[in-house]
Amino acid sequence: MMDGSTSVIAPVLILLGPPGAGKGTQARMLEEQFGLVQLSTGDLLRAAVAAGTEAGKQAKAVMEAGDLVSDEIVIAILRDRLGDADCAKGVILDGFPRTTVQAKALDMLLAENGQRINAAISLDVEDAAMVTRISGRYTCDGCGEGYHDSFKQPKAEGVCDNCGGTEFKRRADDNADTVASRLEAYHAQTAPLIDYYAGQGSLQRIDAMGEIADIASGLSAIVKTATG
Ligand code: AMP
Repeated sequence: MMDGSTSVIAPVLILLGPPGAGKGTQARMLEEQFGLVQLSTGDLLRAAVAAGTEAGKQAKAVMEAGDLVSDEIVIAILRDRLGDADCAKGVILDGFPRTTVQAKALDMLLAENGQRINAAISLDVEDAAMVTRISGRYTCDGCGEGYHDSFKQPKAEGVCDNCGGTEFKRRADDNADTVASRLEAYHAQTAPLIDYYAGQGSLQRIDAMGEIADIASGLSAIVKTATG
């Protein structure tokens, strides 16, 4: 939909948490299990950078420094994507909102259709573990499946479990220097959203320091209740 409006989207779930908390990995699993659409503003921005759009040109240096892209650009990109027909079956927002301005913009966008978010789920982790988690991660170039040097290697070396692809990539901003800025941005600008959603009565929290499968089953139970 190019007129900036959205149709009814149900349900709407938000995954909150610092970089490396596992939002992308868990969102992909929930997408498959519940037939929802994973919306990652990081992915949308990386696609805009790769395509060389005006928004992408403005976002590139900011992302490389580990800072947050302007609310204006991110909200416009998200609003556009929410208007696509596939989002009507429900979305899991991964990496959005990251500021109070974005959270309020999302509430308004949904309210236009008489909707509100079903749950904002905070993936609680310890900062100290995030640098190791982020610096070891990579994804399949073909299907986007996520892997990690220490925690999740493909079953056959160099071959994606999901699609059989043999090309993998690492993100330019997944390095120790940028991770420090990204964690700082999270604590200064995104962590206050935990209180924002607690105030709305939509906050759920999950300990995300354990095994991927255990966290997935905890999340799945939360999502069932929130969407049931
Ligand atoms: P992510 O893939 O979610 O880790 O995002 C990668 C980078 O994209 C972040 O470090 C930010 O520079 C930018 N970004 C992604 N989502 C947002 C957002 N909601 N608001 C501002 N910047 C964002």
